[in-house]
Formats: sequence, C-alpha cells, structure tokens
Amino acid sequence: MMDDPNKTSETGQEHHDPELSDILMHLGEERERYFYAVSPPVIQTSNFVLPDLAAFREAFADEQEHHVYSRGNNPTVEILRKKLAALEGTEDAWVFSSGAGAVAAAVIGNISAGEHIVCQRSPYTWTNVLLRKFLSRFGVEHTFVDGTDIENIRAAIRPDTRILYLESPNSMTYECQDLTACAELAKAHGIVTIIDNSYCSPVYQNPAAFGIDIVVHSGTKYLNGHSDVVVGVLCASREMVKKIFLSEVMTLGGILGPHDAALVLRGLRTLPLRLQRSNDSAQWLIERLEQHPKVSRIFYPFHHSFPQLELAKRQMRGCGGLFSVDFKTDTQQKMEAFVGRLKRFTMAVSWGGHESLIIPTIGFYNIPGKGQPSLPWTFARFYIGLEDPAWLWEDLQQALEAL
Ligand SMILES: *Cc1c(COP(=O)(O)O)cnc(C)c1O
Repeated sequence: MMDDPNKTSETGQEHHDPELSDILMHLGEERERYFYAVSPPVIQTSNFVLPDLAAFREAFADEQEHHVYSRGNNPTVEILRKKLAALEGTEDAWVFSSGAGAVAAAVIGNISAGEHIVCQRSPYTWTNVLLRKFLSRFGVEHTFVDGTDIENIRAAIRPDTRILYLESPNSMTYECQDLTACAELAKAHGIVTIIDNSYCSPVYQNPAAFGIDIVVHSGTKYLNGHSDVVVGVLCASREMVKKIFLSEVMTLGGILGPHDAALVLRGLRTLPLRLQRSNDSAQWLIERLEQHPKVSRIFYPFHHSFPQLELAKRQMRGCGGLFSVDFKTDTQQKMEAFVGRLKRFTMAVSWGGHESLIIPTIGFYNIPGKGQPSLPWTFARFYIGLEDPAWLWEDLQQALEAL
C-alpha cells in the first residue's frame, strides 16, 4: 500500500511531484503580461525597443537580464531557462541551439591554453572530438580515465587541471561516476566539475545536489521529447551562467530561437509522464529479454547485473528508456538479419522522443575509411518510447528468431 501517490515502487525515492508540477505548469510564466494566455507567446523578434535613455542605460548595464537583442535575452527563451534551472536546482540556466553547443560553452568557458581536462573515458562522441581534436589545437590537454573508480580520477589530476568532465551514466554502456566523491575531490583542487546529465534528465538525477558545478543536457532527448527540436541546456550558479553568457553565449552565438523554445516548453509539460512510461516499458521489456536464450548481457543501471547498481540507485531516482543488449550469435549475417526483421523499432540516432529506436553497432562495421568500433557487432542500444510495450515485444520476439 503506497500512501504517497508520487512514490515509485522501484526506488522508494520520491519524485517531488508537487514541486515538479509547479515548475512545469507555472514557474516563469507571467501570464498577466500576455493577455492571461495559458500558453506563453512566441516573441518572434530580433531586437527590442529601448523607450528612452534611462531604459537604454539600464538595459546595457545588464544585457543578460534585460531585453535588448535576441542573441542575448528573449522572453520566450527566458521562461524555458527559468524552468530548467528550477528543475536542476541551480540558480540559473542557459539554453543553446544544441547539446553540443552547451557542452562546448561549458568546457571552453572554463579552460585556457596550457591547461588540462580530466574526462571519464567514454563521453558522447562529439564531446570526445571537442577534447581530442578541437581543444588540442589551442594547447588544451586532456586525460581520459575509467571513471568508475575515483582513484583513477585522483591519479589523473595535475597541477594544471581545471575541469573534471563527467557523464553519468555515460553513452552506450552507462558507466557511472560517484558524483559526491568527484565533487569533493575537484573542490579540494579548485577544479570545475561538469556533467552531461542527458541520460537521466533532471527528473531522475540532480547532480548539483551532489556538488557538481555545471550540469549540461542535450535537451533534444527527453526535455523536448518529440524528436523535432535540437536544443542544449546548461545549468549552474548565477555567477557561472553570467560568465558564460558574457563570453561563449554572446561571442559564439549558439542560441535557441523563440519558436524552438516554445516547442521545448510544450515538451516539458509532459516530461515526468513520458519518462515514467519509458522507464516502466524499458524495465518490462528487459525482464523478458533477459530470459531469452539469445541475450548474453543487458546494460541498464538499475538491472540486477549492473556492476554499479548500488551507486546508480544512490544517485538516480529512475533510469528511463535507454538500455543496451549484447546478443549471442555467431555470424554478422545473423545480426544483420535480426536488425532487418525489426519493423516497429526505428533505426535512428538520438533518443528521448515518442518512438522506440535501435542503434546496432554492426552498422558502424565495414564503413569505408572508418576504423574498427570499440563495441562488438553483437551489441545494440535500444530506446523505448511511448508505444505499447507488448506491441514492441512481439516485434523483438519475431526478429530474435534470426539470431
Ligand atoms: C545527443 C547527445 C549530446 C549532443 O546533443 P545535441 O543536442 O545532439 O547536440 C550530448 N550528450 C549526450 C549524452 C547525447 O546523447
């Protein structure tokens, strides 16, 4: 018998739903300023009237908080920004034209030539490229470490280390880092901590509560949730967001337009519902997959076989719809046949939308001019969307016959 309707049986942790509801339905929406419209207007303008010199001076004293020009502060985007900061429990937030843009702003805003970054070993592809190829051109060094053990991170820190970059859980295999331990270690060395929190979304994990300085998201995934906008989010202290606003936001200019901001606001209204559905359906499917003779291993932070299950449960309130499977099969042809037989899963990158997806690593094999992938060809990442899980299971079962 559950007294609290918001308590999840899975983790026993609360979703703090009353607060979440207030953020998603009301926070930042000053409806009296726009005819008491329920949905906020799309303020589709590049610039704003500065009615007199006093207003002019006031606006330029703080361009981040006044309406001057939409590369800076746009009112529709501002509503989104306020909700996202509240969702992550940080003082402020900024939004970008992509998750990659948010990651780049967070990193570039806190590093200079001759300095060093420590990064968990397997970040999102383009974060990896940012460190290995882009920043190395400007004399920024980096070390990738197995972040599942804090001692590896400690050992990689140098006197010139300025950033500890985390992604917990990380892409594809969902390795976690101990956020409390990372934050403490970094603070002792004056190092800024950045985490990519896209996997959990703010509904299932709030890294700032563990002491992490900057939380970034690919809002393209769960936050927008409808596979129709590319958006990035950066949540941090007011001081940090201001610093990044006055430098990376205003100079690199990777901003979100008001129309896209309105779409993301619409997506946010259903964020907890969508996550819960994906989470429950993914777990329902995993329970069936793990019993299938052609399944060798499941990768999912809340799965009983996950090596860091205890840590994951300590840091996360839920997992969502993303998991990976290593299949048992003997030929690449059989794996290709399995993929070919799936009709209800869409083969596509990204995730967090309404539609269930598969990325089979076999697709990265045999691409001319590309090196050998690090993951085996028997491996596939699944995202479970909002469809009926039994309908998806039927499709998986018939495709599994190919293995
Ligand atoms: C998709 C993704 C990104 C990049 O975000 P975009 O919105 O595509 O630029 C960064 N990190 C993770 C974990 C992602 O899945």
